[in-house]
Amino acid sequence: MPHRDVPAELDEFLAAHEAELIEFRRDLHAHPELGYHEHRTTRRVALRLAAAGLRPVILPKGTGMLVDIGSAADGGPLVALRADLDALPVSDEKQVPYRSTVPNVCHACGHDVHTAVLVGAGLFLAGRADRGLLPGRVRLLFQPAEEVVEGALTAMGEGAITGVDRIFALHCDPRFEIGQIGLRTGPITGACDKIKVRVSGPGGHTARPHLTADLVYALGKIVTELPAALSRRVDPRSSLSLVWGQISAGLAPNAIPEEGFAAGTVRCLDEEAWYQAPDLLKGLVNSVASAYGVIAELDYVRGVPPAVNDGDSVRILGEAAELAIGPEAVALAPQSLGGEDVAWYLESIPGALARLGIRGPQTPTDLDIHQPNFDVDERAIGVGVRLMAASAVIALSEGSAPEEPVASTRGAA
Ligand SMILES: [Zn+2]
Ligand SMILES: [Zn+2]
Repeated sequence: MPHRDVPAELDEFLAAHEAELIEFRRDLHAHPELGYHEHRTTRRVALRLAAAGLRPVILPKGTGMLVDIGSAADGGPLVALRADLDALPVSDEKQVPYRSTVPNVCHACGHDVHTAVLVGAGLFLAGRADRGLLPGRVRLLFQPAEEVVEGALTAMGEGAITGVDRIFALHCDPRFEIGQIGLRTGPITGACDKIKVRVSGPGGHTARPHLTADLVYALGKIVTELPAALSRRVDPRSSLSLVWGQISAGLAPNAIPEEGFAAGTVRCLDEEAWYQAPDLLKGLVNSVASAYGVIAELDYVRGVPPAVNDGDSVRILGEAAELAIGPEAVALAPQSLGGEDVAWYLESIPGALARLGIRGPQTPTDLDIHQPNFDVDERAIGVGVRLMAASAVIALSEGSAPEEPVASTRGAA
C-alpha cells in the first residue's frame, strides 16, 4: 500500500510542528473575528503557508482562501480539505492566557482548532508533494462565515469546489474523547430554517366575532394546528419539527386586532422533507386561515439543508483514523439537529464531515459548543492533522489506482 509510511511520517512531522500549531491556534483564539471579517485570520494563515512555499489565493471579499498543493500538470484526482475561520458573537469567560482580546467575540465553536488543523495538514501534505509522494492534488479550503451559514456558498461562488472529486471536513465535538473520531454515513447534521406567519383581518369588537374574523383565535389555531398537522403529513423518521418561539397580537381585551404574528424554527433531519417543508407549511397555513376568514402570509427563510455524508468518504475517514490515530479511534456519531454549512458542498460533490473528539481530563461534563467557557484539549489539533492528512493521501491513492479493464463491458447486453 502506498500510504503505509504515513503514520511514521506524521509522528515525525508532529514532533517538529505540534507546539507551533498549538501556538498558532492560541493566537487565533486570542484574536477572534466574526464572519466575513476574518482579515487577520486569513493573513496569518496565508503567511504561514506561503512561508512553506505554497501559493494561497485569497477570496475576492478579502477573507477566506484556497491553497492548492501539487501540480495540475501531474494529473490525478483533486481532494479538498475544508476549515472555517470565523468566531461567534459570544463573550469569552475562560481564565486562560489565550483568552479572547475582543469583547463579545469568541472562538466558542472551535473554528480556530479547525484552522490550525488544516494549516498543519497542509504543511505535511506540501512536504509529501515536494518529495513526489502525492498522487494527485489537495486543495485547502479555508472558508469564511460558517456561523451565518453563508460562507460555503460564497466560497463555491468563487469556484472553491470546481473540479474537486471529494471533500473532507471535521468539527470539534465535546461528546467525544480526545483521540476519538465520530463518523456517520448519511445525514450527520440537521436543517434549520426560520418561519414567520403574519395574519390579518378587519378587526372588531369581541362581542361580535361572527361579524368580523376572530384573528387571535385563528392565530391560536395556526400555532397549534401546524406542528400537529406536520406530524401527520410527513414521514416521522424525517424528524421535521416546527417549534414556535415568538407570538404577538392585540392591545386590548375587548378589541379583535387587525393583525398578529408568530415566528419559530423548522428543524429537519431529512433532505427530501426539507425541500418539501416550505410548500407544505404554506398550504397548511392557508387552509387553517381560510377556515376562520383571516388572511395569512408565510415568510419562510431557508437556513442550510442537512449535511449528508457519502458512504465512501466515511469509509476513507475511518481507514485514515485507524491508520494514523489508532485501531480504536472510530466511534459512531449521532445525527445532530444543529446546522453546518458544509452541507452545501456535500450537496454537490461526495464528501464527509467527521466529529473530532476534544474531551480531555479537564473538560467539564456538560461542555457544549457555543458556550462562553468552550475550550478544547489541544492534543486534538495533532489528532485532526493525522485524520485530515491521512484521509487526503488515501483518497488520492484510491482515485489514481488503475481503472478496471473496460473491455468486458463492451457488448454486454
Ligand atoms: Zn458554531
Ligand atoms: Zn462550528
